[in-house]
Amino acid sequence: MRHLRNYLVLVLLFSLFSVLFQHKIYEAALKNRLSAESTDNEKFRAEFYSDAMRKDRELLSESCLSFLSAVERDIRYFPIPLSEADSSLGTSYVDSWMGAREYKGKGVHEGTDIMADKNERGIYPVVSISDGTVTNLGWLEKGGYRIGITSPSGAYFYYAHLDSYADIKEGDTVIAGQFLGFMGDSGYGEEGTVGQFPVHLHLGIYSFEEGKEISVNPYYVLLALEDKKLKYYYI
Ligand SMILES: [Zn+2]
Repeated sequence: MRHLRNYLVLVLLFSLFSVLFQHKIYEAALKNRLSAESTDNEKFRAEFYSDAMRKDRELLSESCLSFLSAVERDIRYFPIPLSEADSSLGTSYVDSWMGAREYKGKGVHEGTDIMADKNERGIYPVVSISDGTVTNLGWLEKGGYRIGITSPSGAYFYYAHLDSYADIKEGDTVIAGQFLGFMGDSGYGEEGTVGQFPVHLHLGIYSFEEGKEISVNPYYVLLALEDKKLKYYYI
């Protein structure tokens, strides 16, 4: 009888300990999330759109939640359609957020690179992830031929290193899935420079808060769009 009592006390203590411990973990997680008052927060930016973030959305501050919801509302298609004609024309990407980059000094990677399996400029079409307005179009030393599209909810999508543009200009309205241009390897030099790196699309996603442009990791957004690939005919 005494043994049983001791046993029960132990079980009780253990359960109490587990509950307390779990509560501590939960509290720590809560604190971590809530500390992201603004979208300008390392953790928020790095884990943007991850399953965990979208699930625990009640833990996000107002501005973080509003940006997350904006992107959720606006994204429709993966930026590179599948080729209906040649299934070997695949693409791939990894989470390279904040990876080291070097061009005229040290930098960090504020985007995701979608690499072309076939390293040839001008083959893969790039389409708009969302509806929006073309707010930037033209050469940037780092980004090469780039397009910036502001979606209806105010998220900014940046497509860089294009080979050429579709027939669009700044101020135009585009719809999700619309052809923007061909993937290329432009950039890292004066206008027209190509071949400084393999053919890829650099995708950036930005929020604007109090006049400040804040990049977030596009990796989880792309993962969420994996089953939203259009089919285009290209070889
Ligand atoms: Zn990049």
